[in-house]
Amino acid sequence: MTAVLLAIGDEIVGGLTIDTNSAFLAERLRTIGVEPVGTLAAPDDEAAILRALERGLEDAAIVISTGGLGPTADDLTTACVAKLAGQELRLDESSLAKIEERFRARGREMTPNRKAAEAMPKNPAEAMPKNPAEAMPKNPAEAMPKNNRKQALFPEGSVIVPNPTGTAPGFICEVERGGRTRHVICLPGVPREMQRMLDETVLPWLEARSPQQRFSSRVFSTFGLAESKLDELLEGVVAPGEARLAFRAAFPRVQARLTVSGRAGDDLEERLDELEQRVRQRLGTHLYAVGDQGMEETVVGLLRQRGITMAVAESCTGGLIGHRITDVPGSSACFILDVVTYANEAKRNVLGVRVETLSEHGAVSTQTAEEMATGVRRLSGADLGVATTGIAGPGGATPGKPVGTVCIALAWEGGVWSRRYQLGARGRDWLKSWTAQLALDRVRRWVIEDHDEPDPPE
Ligand code: ATP
Ligand code: MG
Repeated sequence: MTAVLLAIGDEIVGGLTIDTNSAFLAERLRTIGVEPVGTLAAPDDEAAILRALERGLEDAAIVISTGGLGPTADDLTTACVAKLAGQELRLDESSLAKIEERFRARGREMTPNRKAAEAMPKNPAEAMPKNPAEAMPKNPAEAMPKNNRKQALFPEGSVIVPNPTGTAPGFICEVERGGRTRHVICLPGVPREMQRMLDETVLPWLEARSPQQRFSSRVFSTFGLAESKLDELLEGVVAPGEARLAFRAAFPRVQARLTVSGRAGDDLEERLDELEQRVRQRLGTHLYAVGDQGMEETVVGLLRQRGITMAVAESCTGGLIGHRITDVPGSSACFILDVVTYANEAKRNVLGVRVETLSEHGAVSTQTAEEMATGVRRLSGADLGVATTGIAGPGGATPGKPVGTVCIALAWEGGVWSRRYQLGARGRDWLKSWTAQLALDRVRRWVIEDHDEPDPPE
């Protein structure tokens, strides 16, 4: 079974919103054996939407559209599909009741807030609902603006796709084309709503119609290996026909993905488990996670598991390491302190880096990094101190220290480790991301007592 994905909306075509819906749909469809064969986009224009739908149905058995199901005049998807299918629009009473109930519930929830807003007229812009559709009704029974009635209209004969988290339901409409039965599936544009409706209603509907092939995949995240090296390491790890192996550089990590396929009822997970063992053996400690997780999750997991606490002194990464660590739920169990000591005086006054160290070796040196790591460890009482210092550019290079020079240090009870890296001048963002990743990777390797150094960035 094949599908074309259609993103509808002026903001998509105009480049203001990136079409992440189609990417999500494509990935999910593949897992149930529906093959995405193309993506299209159309502005909020009837003729353009009709053309795109026609074109999609020429190429595939199913067109899945997102967007344009709203209550306003520029939301045209439903009317277009009805026209294409040669069906009248019909009001679905049960959907209408749900939409009305939703507005009533919202009206009740909003009453106290509105009173508070009225009592506080300092900022009139905030006291007024931004969207007139959300304006408070005087009488909760009249809560729903007339326009929203439109969202309960569907082409005659459609299967309705309930929307548990928003207003606009979606629908599946049959269309005859060239003597064959095709389907148009329409979902709202809001990603969160669309995703849930896909998982709860559309995928089961599709699966019931194509009970043959199933796919399952597993992602392996590595850091410090060039993509070509990863390819080399995994050469021959799967026999032809056993699984599909694909590579992806998802900065700053490099991932390999294994996909297996079979019939419904086959134990694909068991086959992936077996393949995972082989991949693990090949990749060793270059593999930091099975799945799509970031290095920070692995690091927090390891530190917690072993009861180790950590503190960070950051210069060139400007707090990025702390930011990433604190993105992980439960990091408070292992993360104590992060100081951003950007100026030399701060390195001296806060961390106790010695004046002589700074004047003899400079702020970007392994000596300074070591004293920063030792200093933050002393300051926090953490088991492990981590420090970064580097030249992010475009200015700041000195003889022998070009832009992209970075030093990382670790300090623990009875030891320090440091190293200087030459990372290249590719912009401040790039250098911060790479340095943070490198530092987190050094922490990971310190915990598992591994001393491999990463390949230089490609
Ligand atoms: P609603 O019923 O909420 O009005 P809708 O079906 O009319 O939904 P749109 O108005 O087109 O949807 O989009 C709603 C939101 O979803 C917007 O914030 C938009 O940026 C986002 N969105 C729409 N299409 C996409 C897409 N293809 N990828 C990612 N985001 C999208
Ligand atoms: Mg809309």
